[in-house]
Amino acid sequence: MNASFAPSIRHDWTRAEITALFALPFSDLMFQAQSVHRAHFNPNEVQVSTLCSIKTGACPEDCAYCPQSARYDTGLEREKLMAVEKVIEEAKAAKASGATRFCMGAAWRSPKNRDMPYVTTMVQGVKALGLETCMTLGMLDEAQAQELADAGLDYYNHNLDTSPEYYGEIITTRTYQDRLTTLANVRKAGMKVCCGGIVGMGEEESDRAGLLQQLANMAEHPESVPINMLVKVGGTPLENEADLDPFDFIRTIAVARILMPQSHVRLSAGREQMNEQTQAMAFLAGANSIFYGEKLLTTPNPEANKDMQLFSKLGIKPEAYEVHEDESEQEASIVHQLQEAAMDSLFYNAAK
Ligand code: SF4
Repeated sequence: MNASFAPSIRHDWTRAEITALFALPFSDLMFQAQSVHRAHFNPNEVQVSTLCSIKTGACPEDCAYCPQSARYDTGLEREKLMAVEKVIEEAKAAKASGATRFCMGAAWRSPKNRDMPYVTTMVQGVKALGLETCMTLGMLDEAQAQELADAGLDYYNHNLDTSPEYYGEIITTRTYQDRLTTLANVRKAGMKVCCGGIVGMGEEESDRAGLLQQLANMAEHPESVPINMLVKVGGTPLENEADLDPFDFIRTIAVARILMPQSHVRLSAGREQMNEQTQAMAFLAGANSIFYGEKLLTTPNPEANKDMQLFSKLGIKPEAYEVHEDESEQEASIVHQLQEAAMDSLFYNAAK
């Protein structure tokens, strides 16, 4: 990390400035993004999260990309809310394979009050394992956000998906403002925000700029910014969408890195379709977080060991769980030892 190159954190980006970044020659854009990245992060560390679908399918919303919407026939099997014990088992397995954050997702418009005791128990159980916790449950009102924060939830994921202008082409059952209100409730309750979008949904470059402008001009940047590449699922309205050029995807990552220097930019859904070279370029552009595990909610994700092989080829190490001041030294040491043990079992010693 080199603080002397650290640019100031801005919240007043204009669309024209962002458009100009997208228009830079590719090498210049990558150089800028990499310079910003190195000023704020160790460029050879990537944060690793595991995602677990705690309730799959039958969602009443109409997000055009989503196989979980009840409106589209995608052949997805509906599942009831997963039992708390099963979630804890999955979290233990995620931790054993090196994840430091466990994200739990439910296909709901918003959680019902009867669901809250279950999800808060999940948060407490996963946190007791020494993992960071994240949930995505749809829209939250102020009281629900507070309840989750009180249970110890670290992050809440709620994406803006695309620009305000293109949003109506993708979702009609909730407004952009609904999403901003949920994000405000999450912030007010004191949780960290995970918020990004999806590219390759037929949007223009100006929409990608518009999405990043919304994120970068929030009063506080989201701590995690997932940039998803559309996974085209048969039966959804976007199943035949034209492919986005991988360079346009990398440009989006690079611009996100420049606009939000201190956020973790997450290479998210769509990684299965990317070759190793495209993923390596995404890391070079400033992506420093991935999901791994067998599933990314309901879309395939490269198997965890393939990720670890790529990390090994690139000399990347999983980022350690950031231990906060209020956690005891003893706990920090146990977490560290567990992480070391997990890492030992993931890497073979090529020098032997
Ligand atoms: S993205 Fe979320 S809200 Fe939209 S249909 Fe899928 S599960 Fe429902």
